[in-house]
Amino acid sequence: MPLREYAEKRNFQKTREPSARRKKTARDSLMFVVQEHHASRLHYDFRLEWQGVLKSWAIPKGPSLDPHLKRLAVEVEDHPLDYGHFEGEIPEGQYGAGRVLIWDVGFWVPHGSVQEGLHKGHLEFELQGGKLKGGWDLVRTRGVGKPQWLLIKKKDRFAKEGDEVSLASSPKKQRQRGGPHRVFPFVAPMLARPVESSPAGPEWIHEVKMDGYRIQAHLDNGRVRLFTRNGHDWTGKFRALAQSLGRCAVQRAVLDGEVVVWDGRLSHFQRLQKALEEGEDRSLYYCAFDLLMLNDEDLRGSPLF
Ligand code: MN
Repeated sequence: MPLREYAEKRNFQKTREPSARRKKTARDSLMFVVQEHHASRLHYDFRLEWQGVLKSWAIPKGPSLDPHLKRLAVEVEDHPLDYGHFEGEIPEGQYGAGRVLIWDVGFWVPHGSVQEGLHKGHLEFELQGGKLKGGWDLVRTRGVGKPQWLLIKKKDRFAKEGDEVSLASSPKKQRQRGGPHRVFPFVAPMLARPVESSPAGPEWIHEVKMDGYRIQAHLDNGRVRLFTRNGHDWTGKFRALAQSLGRCAVQRAVLDGEVVVWDGRLSHFQRLQKALEEGEDRSLYYCAFDLLMLNDEDLRGSPLF
């Protein structure tokens, strides 16, 4: 019963979403769809047709054409094929209440065995859509609990550096005001340790070693506080950075990252020290490499950047 979870979550007397029917299809092409879903939190639902259902992932930030922007994709329940054509308002009080819009639709072409890819946690495919084209990887990084994947654009002629498709195209997030705000706790950052050899496998991401100051950024509706790895408040040393972080689209989040002087290729620690001595922090960058918490959800260990 591949659509049982889908059916159990919904009351089809109250929502116009398609009922849970598995469809036999004789077509050789497979559809994909991305739906912009204005639920309590805006996200993008990425769906791939496979064996009569839509395999589904919720992507908080939406897909990106930039191969460097690995987008968290949380695996969710299979959806019926008809869902690929669904647009409309899921009524208040129902599961996923809010507006659903089709953001992109087209065909997908798997490279290699899909069954094996789903099992191993690495799908490679091509998308033939209006916005999303070319090669993609979907890599599972966490299998326990809600399985987490990363959707990554392959480097090809359809890739676009610095692309922020989803943020640019989506209407402004509704501000959720009211309700008591908790102050985020300081989270002891995970530190690097020496090993004999570097690990391999699709669940690992290798990143450039940044030479700067490890800084935890707490974002709260435009207010920003910056902490060192030992929890000292260094907001005052990085005023310009705090100001730019305050203009982030995200409202409440804890980021783990590194403050660096960046020349487009490398980080320069001595220039960073000099900038700090001179109280000149306008040339500094904050490279966030992990999102520890988002709004009031603990997302520790989900690499997003
Ligand atoms: Mn959704």
